[in-house]
Amino acid sequence: MTARILDFLATRRPEGPCLVVDLDVVRENFLTFRRALPDTRVFYAVKANPAPEILCLLAELGSSFDCASIPEIEMALAAGATPDRISFGNTIKKERDIARARILGVDLFAVDCEAEVEKIARQAPGARVFCRILCDGAGAEWPLSRKFGCEPEMAIDVLERAHQLGLAAYGVSFHVGSQQGNTEAWDGALATSAQLFRTLSERGIQLKMVNLGGGFPTKYLRDVPTTEAYARSIEDAVRRHFGNEIPETIIEPGRGMVGGAGIIKAEVVLISKKQANDDVRWVFLDIGKFGGLAETMDEAIRYPIRTQHDGSETAPCVLAGPTCDSADVLYEKNAYPLPISLEIGDEVLIEGTGAYTTTYSAVAFNGFEPLKSYVI
Ligand SMILES: *Cc1c(COP(=O)(O)O)cnc(C)c1O
Repeated sequence: MTARILDFLATRRPEGPCLVVDLDVVRENFLTFRRALPDTRVFYAVKANPAPEILCLLAELGSSFDCASIPEIEMALAAGATPDRISFGNTIKKERDIARARILGVDLFAVDCEAEVEKIARQAPGARVFCRILCDGAGAEWPLSRKFGCEPEMAIDVLERAHQLGLAAYGVSFHVGSQQGNTEAWDGALATSAQLFRTLSERGIQLKMVNLGGGFPTKYLRDVPTTEAYARSIEDAVRRHFGNEIPETIIEPGRGMVGGAGIIKAEVVLISKKQANDDVRWVFLDIGKFGGLAETMDEAIRYPIRTQHDGSETAPCVLAGPTCDSADVLYEKNAYPLPISLEIGDEVLIEGTGAYTTTYSAVAFNGFEPLKSYVI
């Protein structure tokens, strides 16, 4: 909660649910990453929040950008990033998009199989590629499954194939799972990465870079370790596994860069019960899963919610969105404690919502507007 955001809401009184992002917090987060990991380049994961003001600020501060599509690459370029500061980090790319990225000057691509390597060899000859390896995501509140990455043994073949096809087999990447609470989570994947460097070196291929991905958390209800604690653990692991031959490293923070910089203002539309003597009230907001709070899926991310009655007695509520889709329930299995004195029409502030909200907001599901955003 920042004074600038509260002041903006009090003076502008924007109508309807909206996200307000404080650029001062984004700047502070970027500088904290850079101070904590001075030898590591920061590639902001654009998908977390692509607001032009955020991209411009980060470009100005010297950030690089992890992009997943041509529109994201174009947004990063429009914000002032040069193509050498852009990584096409999605392992699933149309061949014509690789060609387009190449025309735009992008020279760094993620792969996790030989078919993707072949596309890049055809459309971006000589480009640098890094191979993503699977990572189990243990300890993460929003794990990333097996959709991306391959087994390390296969990564050897993928990178060798890249080398044979005239690409620069540049490095290895992984993602330890988003909202990763364990500062040691990078250790196993770094051990595997170092092993890959050695194996490929024996075959005459010198890898140069380890992409440490994202995973850095935002504080929601529970405290999280500091960025410095993550940095120390990562630097120790890099030294332990790579010894004297420290590779170039990059990180791709998304949530950790912008999550804590944003607050969503919403309104209580209805409070009801399913029968007169129920203990649990149903509280319906004017924002839900389709208006930007998609990460409440399976109740994975639990946002702090502030009301004007904080400090007074609470009772458990089922919290739901306003649409006519029965999936549009935010918290039910784990009922959310809210003040008994909460009333229809009250404003609520949902904290930690700077990441993965506007990008998940549906265009107009059920006629509800996509999430409005103010970056101040
Ligand atoms: C989404 C994503 C990130 C950002 O992850 P966070 O946990 O939000 O920091 C980083 N790298 C890649 C490749 C991603 O897909």
